[in-house]
Amino acid sequence: MHFDTIIVGAGAAGIAAGRRLHDAGKRVILVEARERLGGRGWTRQVNGFALDLGCGWLHSAPRNPWSDIARTSGFTIDKTPPPWSRPSLTNGFPLEHQRGFRAALDAFYERVDEVAQSGRDVPASECLKSGDPWNALIGTVATFIAGAEWDKVSAIDLHRYADTGVNWRVPDGYGELIARHAAGLNVAINNRVHRIDHGSRPLRVETDKGAMTADAVIVTVSSTLIAGEAIVFAPALPEKLAAAAQLPLGHDDKLFLSLEQPDEFEKDSRLFGRTDRTGSGAYHMRPFGRPLIECYYGGSVAETLERGGPKAFFEFAKEELVNHFGSDFAKRIAPIAVHCWGSDVFAGGAYSYAKPGYADCRAVLAAPVNDCLFFAGEACSRDDFSTAHGAYFTGVAAAEALLK
Ligand SMILES: Cc1cc2nc3c(=O)[nH]c(=O)nc-3n(C[C@H](O)[C@H](O)[C@H](O)COP(=O)(O)OP(=O)(O)OC[C@H]3O[C@@H](n4cnc5c(N)ncnc54)[C@H](O)[C@@H]3O)c2cc1C
Repeated sequence: MHFDTIIVGAGAAGIAAGRRLHDAGKRVILVEARERLGGRGWTRQVNGFALDLGCGWLHSAPRNPWSDIARTSGFTIDKTPPPWSRPSLTNGFPLEHQRGFRAALDAFYERVDEVAQSGRDVPASECLKSGDPWNALIGTVATFIAGAEWDKVSAIDLHRYADTGVNWRVPDGYGELIARHAAGLNVAINNRVHRIDHGSRPLRVETDKGAMTADAVIVTVSSTLIAGEAIVFAPALPEKLAAAAQLPLGHDDKLFLSLEQPDEFEKDSRLFGRTDRTGSGAYHMRPFGRPLIECYYGGSVAETLERGGPKAFFEFAKEELVNHFGSDFAKRIAPIAVHCWGSDVFAGGAYSYAKPGYADCRAVLAAPVNDCLFFAGEACSRDDFSTAHGAYFTGVAAAEALLK
C-alpha cells in the first residue's frame, strides 16, 4: 500500500503531525506498535477515576496547544495551581525549612543560567553550592524534572527549557485528550515498524504486518528506541543514532494509591517522602480532591523500584508515608495503578534529558534526512523537550516542513 506519508508512532507528536497532514488533504497513516493511541500520554480508568500514568500537567498552559484542543474538544480544564508551586505539608518539613529550600533551589537555577550563558555545557551538578544543606533535596527535584540526577544532566539543556510557570490539568485525562485528537485519522495499531529503507523513492517501511511505501516518513519513536536501533534505517544513520544516545529517557514512574479517610488532607497538597536524601517520592495528596495519593518517583530510585515491580513501589511508598503518619497509615492505603516506563519496550523511559556537552544533539536528532525522512517527538524540541506540548510542536513542525 502506498501513502503520501507514513508516521511511525501515535503519541503526541505523531498524532499532531497526522492531524496537520490529514487536514491538508494528504493520504497519511499512523503506524503504532501498541494496542492504544497516545504513547507516553496514557489515561487509565481505575475505580471510576481517570488516572494519567504518563503526562498529567499542561505545562506552560497558556501557550500549550493541548489547552486549546481541550477547550474545543469539550474537555474540562482544572486550573488549581500545582502543589509544587505552593507550600508543602509541614510534616518533617516546617515552613521555615521550605523557605530555605525554595531560596536554595532558586539560587541553583540562577547559577545554571549563568553557567549556560557562558557557554559551558557542564553537568548541572556543578551548579550546586558546595556544602548547601538543601543539595540532597535539590537532587531529588532533578529526578522529577529530568528523570536523572544532576551529574548526568547538561546545564545548557536545563537552561533552555522554557516554562511559563502556569500549569493546568485535565480531570478526564491528558492521555485521553491526546488519544482523542486522533479521531478520524487513519491509524494501524498493534503494528510495530522495524525497518525503514530511505535510500530511494518511494520509501519502504517494514512492519509486523507487512511492508508499505510512502513519499515521506515521520519517525516519532523515543530517542532511547532510536539509539537502541529498535528500528533499522537503511542506509544507516550513525549521526542520528549518536545524537539520540546523548538524549536518553530518564526514569519517572507514578504509583496511585487509594486513600481511606482522605479528608484529613487538604485537596491537592503534597509532601516529600524525605527531605534529607536524594531519591525520595513526592506524594500528591487528593489530586482533584479524589480519595487517592499520586506518588512520583524518579531517577535511580525509580530505576531500582522498577526492578522490583509494582510491589516494590508500594513497599517504598508505604515506608515513606508511615514514617510521616505512623504505622496505622498503612491500613488506609492500597495500590491501584502503576506503570514502569523504563521497562516499557515502546517507550524505554519517561522523558529525555541531554547529557553534559550534548545539548545541541536535539537539533541533530530533529534534522530531516534528504527531505523525505523526518523526525519528531519530545526529544527533538530545543526548549519544550520532555513534554507533551513539546512533542506536539515537533510533530506539527515536521508536517509543515514536509508540506513545503
Ligand atoms: C510518568 C510521566 C509523567 C509525565 N508527566 C508529564 C506532564 O505532566 N506534562 C507533560 O507535558 N509531559 C509529561 N510527560 C512526558 C510526556 O508524556 C511525553 O513527553 C510525551 O507524551 C511524548 O510524546 P511523543 O509523541 O514524543 O512520544 P511517545 O508518546 O513515546 O510516542 C511514540 C509512539 O511510538 C510508538 N512506537 C514505539 N516504537 C514503535 C515502533 N517500532 N513502531 C511503531 N510504533 C512505535 C510508541 O508506542 C508511542 O505510542 C510525562 C511522562 C511520564 C512517563
